[in-house]
Amino acid sequence: MTDVRRWDVPGRVNLIGEHLDYNGGPVLPMAIDRSLTIKVRNRDDDTINLWSDLPGSSKVAFGTGVQPGEVDGWAVYAAGIVWSFMSAGHQFGGADLVVESRIPSGSGLSSSAALTCGIASALNQMHDFGLDRTDLALLAQRAEHDFVGAPVGLMDQLAVLYGEAGHAVLIDTAQSPPTTDTVPVTWEADALTLLVINTRAHHSLADGEYAARREECERAAAELGVEWLSEATLDATIGLTDETLKARTRHVLTETARVRAAVNAINRGAWTQLGTILTASHASLRDDFEVSCPELDVAVEAALDAGALGARMTGGGFGGSAIALVPLDRVAIVRERVEARYAAQRWKPPEAFVVRAADGAHLVD
Ligand code: ADP
Ligand code: MG
Repeated sequence: MTDVRRWDVPGRVNLIGEHLDYNGGPVLPMAIDRSLTIKVRNRDDDTINLWSDLPGSSKVAFGTGVQPGEVDGWAVYAAGIVWSFMSAGHQFGGADLVVESRIPSGSGLSSSAALTCGIASALNQMHDFGLDRTDLALLAQRAEHDFVGAPVGLMDQLAVLYGEAGHAVLIDTAQSPPTTDTVPVTWEADALTLLVINTRAHHSLADGEYAARREECERAAAELGVEWLSEATLDATIGLTDETLKARTRHVLTETARVRAAVNAINRGAWTQLGTILTASHASLRDDFEVSCPELDVAVEAALDAGALGARMTGGGFGGSAIALVPLDRVAIVRERVEARYAAQRWKPPEAFVVRAADGAHLVD
């Protein structure tokens, strides 16, 4: 049918800069060639109908005047972005939305941002709201904050909207709104690839611990007298009396330095150095920020044992996915090693797949 628009929206991995997007630090995500498709058609009434291939989901319908608390379950993100537009004064009529996804949900690859930013892009285009991609990211973030109840930063939305094939997206989250730049990633020319290892673990700690980390970072920034924790100096952290706040701050400051070093290594094609930086990031997230879990640690260790140049958890932590920079001729060995280590622990088999840097949300037809 001619009145149906189809959008393709990628998931993302974060190469480095973890838990920095609410601390004013630099982050370096990359949109990936695992995407979801959203088909959109306007309706003559004020109803939003939503169909998805998400396992266990059946059709959901709600009005365009939907309010926080009125929709829960899998449709909450979609309802949230509708609410976010309407409550910001961008009024529109009903729509039929059909979602088909190749991004595993809840695996730290940001299927949630793909969904909200994809719907946001579609609404913007179909109703000529004239919003730019940063405006859309902010509306999507508001949906997560005030409708879903998840106090997320802006990295995922910006990555999904500003992604570019062959490039990572460098985001400066200290700017308001954050600014983006692209960084060419060329490891494939040197026979390397980026492997995602989806641990398929979801620890229920994730939401509460995420909020706790944000609060700890805010307290540390207040004690150090800085607006953003990433602006503190390593010397000043000696003044923090609380050992936990000291460790959280150490992660934020060393991770900030690692992002800059990683961009430098990428620009020079210094892949061994990039690998070392990725692995150091994992250690910091595990030991200082305490957001890893056994499944992520084992995935990283097994990948390194089998010849990865570097590996780290990606995303918020407590499950989800790890990434590894792997020589092409070691991919099968890394995959086997991770699977064997998981089998020995009697964990669910992980899922490992190669990803490439892909374009952000775009209209297909
Ligand atoms: P992640 O963003 O890492 O995949 P989240 O828990 O943040 O994990 O987001 C998962 C949520 O996003 C799902 O519970 C659902 O609400 C929404 N979602 C993901 N994929 C789909 C899909 N194919 N159809 C509809 N909603 C989806
Ligand atoms: Mg998410």
